[in-house]
Amino acid sequence: MELYKEIKLRPKKDESLKRFHPWVFSGAIAYKPDNMTEGEIVRVLASDGTFLGIGHYQIGSIAVRILSFEDERIDVSFYEKRIAEAYKMRVDINLVRTDNNTYRLIHGEGDNLPGLIIDMYANTAVVQAHSIGIHKDLTLITDALKKVLPDNVLQNIYYKSQSTLPYKADIEPEDAYISGGKNASETALENDLKFHIDWLKGQKTGFFVDQRENRKLLEYYAKNRNVLNMFCYTGGFSVYALRGGAAQVDSVDSSAKAMMITEQNVQINFENNVRHSSYTEDAFKFLKESAYGKYDLIVLDPPAFAKHRGAINNALQGYKKLNLSAFEKIKSGDILFTFSCSQVISKEQFRLAVFSAAAISGRKVRILHQLTQPADHPVNIYHPEGEYLKGLVLYVE
Ligand code: SAH
Repeated sequence: MELYKEIKLRPKKDESLKRFHPWVFSGAIAYKPDNMTEGEIVRVLASDGTFLGIGHYQIGSIAVRILSFEDERIDVSFYEKRIAEAYKMRVDINLVRTDNNTYRLIHGEGDNLPGLIIDMYANTAVVQAHSIGIHKDLTLITDALKKVLPDNVLQNIYYKSQSTLPYKADIEPEDAYISGGKNASETALENDLKFHIDWLKGQKTGFFVDQRENRKLLEYYAKNRNVLNMFCYTGGFSVYALRGGAAQVDSVDSSAKAMMITEQNVQINFENNVRHSSYTEDAFKFLKESAYGKYDLIVLDPPAFAKHRGAINNALQGYKKLNLSAFEKIKSGDILFTFSCSQVISKEQFRLAVFSAAAISGRKVRILHQLTQPADHPVNIYHPEGEYLKGLVLYVE
């Protein structure tokens, strides 16, 4: 049996691991073997030799991502156990239903599998690696996935890591079906609404699964309103607004491809819908030129303005500018759904940016809801960094 290599931490550097935080920073390491390869499994020991955890070694400031705090083998049955726990949770909270087969099955650290994302769309699992370790363990993971999920739930597995791994360790994984693929249904159901999911070419795994609950809330507020869905991508918020009885929905995205998917999604749910219009335009330009007094419900769901810590200040300015533009255009008695999905920006920082925008606009603004990511994107309580989606629903007068 293969023996795992070991790394030893410096004195007092074991505390966060004892509190089950799953990352070992490179500065905490006192000793590591010279011949370590990126992605291999490594046992982490305290300075006195006590076992702390086992995980994937990687080059960079996070040196180990812990998979288990028990001294166990990382094999198919390990992944089976983790995936079974995650699937059971989704079933227990009633996310796996005949009218809802779109959900995140594995959310990295939130499901005790750092570096791994698996999204389910109808009968297809889209698997995404965010670490070399997960990439190397891919066969173990997909074998485990096939064992855990019933045949009627899982028929195809698509691996999509080309955009998440290329700069790491010279690995250029090919995006491809690992099993099935020929008859994969590209239409999945979210809360009984149909969505065409393009996992081959779409962003992330093809869809933003994390806005499901927030779209549902928007549906509730949409009745008889003129809705503007900015940064619409696949048109998720637009389709819910239409079902909620919106008078008119305008969807805006700078990508022509996104607008095509949005139109397709409107069409497959509401044939020949006359209450929907698409605009392929820059969001800032659209708000400035076309939005004055026209809308009474606005959604702002931009891409992450800050992808790393160095970009925080610029990103906060970006959120302020965008929200100010919406405050200047929205009518009295209207509602604004505003989001940030930047992991490095805290909910306090985001709220402060929106507060600054409100103050400059001089509008009277009340917070109706504070939103976050849904239950299939759980936050591991020992890993608060896993909380990334923030949203505010505002009543503006
Ligand atoms: N609200 C979407 C997800 C948004 S993803 C959902 O519920 O699924 C962010 C989107 O913003 C992408 O589709 C991207 O094409 C678009 N985008 C990025 N910059 C933009 C800009 N300046 N103006 C308009 N759209 C932009």
